[in-house]
Amino acid sequence: MVDYTIEHWTTGQTDLNGENSLAISISINNRAATRQAIINHVRQSGMNFIERSNWAAHKNRSQRMRDDWDYTKIAIHHAGRSFNCGPAALQLQDIQDMQMNRGVDAMDDIGYHYALDCFGNVFEGRGIRFKGENVSHYNTGVIGIVLLENLSSSDEGYDSVTAIRKFLHRMGFDPTPSVPEIQRQSIAKFINILCDFFHINTLGGHREFPGQSGEGKICPGNVGLTLVGELRKTTGLSAP
Ligand SMILES: [Zn+2]
Repeated sequence: MVDYTIEHWTTGQTDLNGENSLAISISINNRAATRQAIINHVRQSGMNFIERSNWAAHKNRSQRMRDDWDYTKIAIHHAGRSFNCGPAALQLQDIQDMQMNRGVDAMDDIGYHYALDCFGNVFEGRGIRFKGENVSHYNTGVIGIVLLENLSSSDEGYDSVTAIRKFLHRMGFDPTPSVPEIQRQSIAKFINILCDFFHINTLGGHREFPGQSGEGKICPGNVGLTLVGELRKTTGLSAP
């Protein structure tokens, strides 16, 4: 019983409650407190944190969503080949719309837990108490973070989008993307914050998790993957 308690205790709860006697069973309130403590840490670290209600997220289908909590892994995504740095609230609304309204594959909310825009701001996706839907076969115990731009080079992929991008690249358009420095700093800080709250041991780009298909085989792009490799070095986290 005691071991169970310690394993499920996080610094966020310690900060807020002090008493570990409350940790025997983690209630929804503890999780809500941890969510808020993460937000507070982000803001104390000098970054903006935008909660779901402030980017006008649609209501989720929470009655169908499953809980998750003992996170050990972080998956990094890019928004996709059709995205550029832009207004994050609109991008998140688009992503949520697309993901919640795609027929048999429809999700119950945006699939990612957090998003970072090109200006280093951190956005809340689905609540951290809910299991993510962003990595095929690996969602349990995985915190999903999306970087709100395209981080793939023009030659990635094998479809008509790639053919057009290759052509544009040769013509001098569609330059290879780079991660804005402010966003690079924010994601490094944010991962460190998450490591303070959960026993994270693994950091991977989406496609590094085995068995991905479709856009998941490209995500988070060559540029995104280079960033993930650098972050693994500075954090000491392992590859999937
Ligand atoms: Zn992805």
